[in-house]
Amino acid sequence: MDIDQRDGLPFPQSLPEFQRLFPNDSACAAYLEKARWRNGFICPHCGVDCEPYRFANRPGALRCRKRMRDTRLTAGTVMELSHTPLNIWFWAACLVTSQTPGMSAVQFQRQLGLRRYETTFQILHKLRAGMVRPDQDRLGGKIGEPVEVDETYMGGRTRGQGRGVHNKILVASAVEVRPRKPGTKLDARKSGRYAGRVRLAVVPDRGARSLCGFVQKAVVPGTIVVTDDGGSYANLPGRGYKHIAVAERGNPQVAEEHLPIIHLVFANLKTWLNGSHHGVSHQHLQAYLNEFTFRFNRRFYPFNSFRSLLGIAGDACAPTYADLYSGKWVHPTCLG
Ligand SMILES: [Zn+2]
Repeated sequence: MDIDQRDGLPFPQSLPEFQRLFPNDSACAAYLEKARWRNGFICPHCGVDCEPYRFANRPGALRCRKRMRDTRLTAGTVMELSHTPLNIWFWAACLVTSQTPGMSAVQFQRQLGLRRYETTFQILHKLRAGMVRPDQDRLGGKIGEPVEVDETYMGGRTRGQGRGVHNKILVASAVEVRPRKPGTKLDARKSGRYAGRVRLAVVPDRGARSLCGFVQKAVVPGTIVVTDDGGSYANLPGRGYKHIAVAERGNPQVAEEHLPIIHLVFANLKTWLNGSHHGVSHQHLQAYLNEFTFRFNRRFYPFNSFRSLLGIAGDACAPTYADLYSGKWVHPTCLG
């Protein structure tokens, strides 16, 4: 769902527009206020809805006119208790959302004009914590939109064994295949299909139990599921799916042709992991898969992901920022 449009809040589509909307802390504070109280401020202390006092030198606070109690606009968000100005947070979330691949913390520091590396590191760390939440609803369920499913090995690095020694980790993926609008430029130029949402999970092995179990967690029954003709997927019809098995027989060219979208996803994932993280350990791989999924599934809605990262998405099912940061919150569908 498009959260921004539901709230009637502005949706910057470009960096100049972003700059116009959020030129200073007061503009960011006004945005936070509107995101939190769509129908006007209600004092959390006394429950009274009144026009609060605002302070030019303290844009992050509102004061209730009844009992003069202060409310911090950043309470419950990623920015809570931070001394960093609001507009720096907004810019940082914007940069992380648009994710120039492989951008380092030092480059972030330069872009944000921050003096201390530690501040940059803290901001990035907190924003990334907002990406560990995998999406909850399953893929598919739409007529004419099959879901491709496949698995691949990722090179994992093992602690203490040094460079070049790798344990391979098996990753399963499901991706929605959507048709392009007929007659458009992209429809004529490419295959006429593009990737919708994706799911990625570390799985223990290539057995039917692991792979069909993954499909059941990731895809709505009744959906057309396209896989290779590996035997592990053979009993998908028994689990309520319409199954199309493509005869791959180890021929990569056939795979490219018949499972093109999922191979694109795997290629993007490997490029990103190797480029930005130089491979990751088994222990952390699921977190990186979740980060990739977060960004991939919101690539057409960058402002939604911007708001999720700041903790102001207004999503009632989402864990609070404190839950995420403490590491206590475990998503029920997380296979890692
Ligand atoms: Zn009050």
